[in-house]
Amino acid sequence: ASNFLIAERTDNSFAALPAEFYTRVQPQPLTDPWLVHANPDAAALLGLSPDDLATPEFLAVFSGARGFPGSDPLAAVYSGHQFGVWAGQLGDGRALLLGEVVGPQGRWEVQLKGSGRTPYSRMGDGKAVLRSSVREYLASEAMHGLGIATTRALALTASDEPVIREAIETAAVVTRLAPSFVRFGSFEHWASAGRPDLLRTLADYVIDRFYPECRPAPAGEPDAAEGPYRRLLAAVVRRTAELMADWQAVGFCHGVMNTDNMSILGLTLDYGPYGFMDGFDAHHICNHTDAGGRYAWDAQPAVGHWNLYRLAGALLPLLGGEDAARAALDGYEAAFLGRFHRNMAAKLGLLEWTDADAELLASLLTVMHHNRADFTLAFRRLAAVEREPRPQAGSVRETFEDLFADRDAAGRWLNDYRARLARQAEPDAARAARMNRVNPLYVLRNHLAELAIRAARQRDPSEIDRLLGLLRDPYTERPGSEAYAALPPDWAGSLEVSCSS
Ligand code: AMP
Ligand code: MG
Ligand code: MG
Repeated sequence: ASNFLIAERTDNSFAALPAEFYTRVQPQPLTDPWLVHANPDAAALLGLSPDDLATPEFLAVFSGARGFPGSDPLAAVYSGHQFGVWAGQLGDGRALLLGEVVGPQGRWEVQLKGSGRTPYSRMGDGKAVLRSSVREYLASEAMHGLGIATTRALALTASDEPVIREAIETAAVVTRLAPSFVRFGSFEHWASAGRPDLLRTLADYVIDRFYPECRPAPAGEPDAAEGPYRRLLAAVVRRTAELMADWQAVGFCHGVMNTDNMSILGLTLDYGPYGFMDGFDAHHICNHTDAGGRYAWDAQPAVGHWNLYRLAGALLPLLGGEDAARAALDGYEAAFLGRFHRNMAAKLGLLEWTDADAELLASLLTVMHHNRADFTLAFRRLAAVEREPRPQAGSVRETFEDLFADRDAAGRWLNDYRARLARQAEPDAARAARMNRVNPLYVLRNHLAELAIRAARQRDPSEIDRLLGLLRDPYTERPGSEAYAALPPDWAGSLEVSCSS
């Protein structure tokens, strides 16, 4: 028998919070489960070896059939604003926190998603389907590969059990890891319930475990009782702003930025109808349930701020006045722009961001938008642009301009870009090398996820494995993987993803 998770290395500090925070629930195991995929990178975070992943015990634990020593499964309660409207109590309707594992570099909460009904399931069945579970599994690791803060994915198990959605699908369980799954909505819950005592308990828990730097006043400064909570809000504002800037830089749309899906740690959380853009459309809506475009790509930074506003409102009883809330929220724009400009300078190969570069970027995005130029490839191909253009006789490489129906417009922008590059002394090759480390070649395009889903339905995990291998390091070109770096096929345009998962 393997001893892959031993009691000495497990804990569940969330379970030590007062009983109001959760309900203990046992997972409902998948029937005749099979292991679709186990992720060695995430396993290493828990101190698991590749051998552990192949054991019957691993399949049993991560399909909900048994616990591990020290596990204490519970569903957490939270509330939230959904599509701008107060939704009241929500909670882990199909997720269960099994416990916490003390890994070589830190503690990780281990959560099953799709493990059956809980007191917070409302009308739902507590299940997740294979399609959306594959999508969450891949996206978590794709974001990590891009260096973007995210929950991680450890395992994907599945069964032939039918699950009814828009069509009849089959059940799956994805195991997620994060230092914490506490959301903005966890705070909104206690604020709306009129329980400032539990609000404070939760804030203290989050500060002590995840934001210890917020506890003491900065050296030499007098502090009020509200100080730590004000600093917590300011820190969450900053992390959220930076996350939004990171999403924008890779053309990622979350799709359901409800406050119950906003991590208090600034992690990308709850992958549902997300999308990495193919052809750039600034108003791209990835979730076809979101008819009004509340969560369109270009709306995300403002929605992040709106959600923080809700968090600040919930924390008000701890902040000692609205001025403190406003002061923290006022930090959002500078934090977002600082990170966004840093990201975009790197993507454009600029050694520093100057005010005039905002114009250069805006005109690039405009011409990309009008031409629906592929977001990922447009930036990737900029690396090959030379400061002094030379005739490209015999070049087999496809160019930046090839992505634009209006090549002249792309060419005009390139003239401005070259003029900007001329103000940097750096040789082309050095700049290209830097750019190829920040502009991915491979991204989790919807059609690539779809091909992996189709194969997984036939019990073939090879596409998941292949994609994970590429997305783990999306910057390094791999011979033989040209199809994964190519423009999407025509059928990709008809793929739709919705909240139904
Ligand atoms: P989401 O939009 O996926 O973040 O889900 C919003 C809320 O609905 C959360 O409280 C989920 O736990 C719950 N939920 C979503 N799908 C289901 C389901 N199939 N069964 C039970 N609860 C669900
Ligand atoms: Mg959610
Ligand atoms: Mg969800």
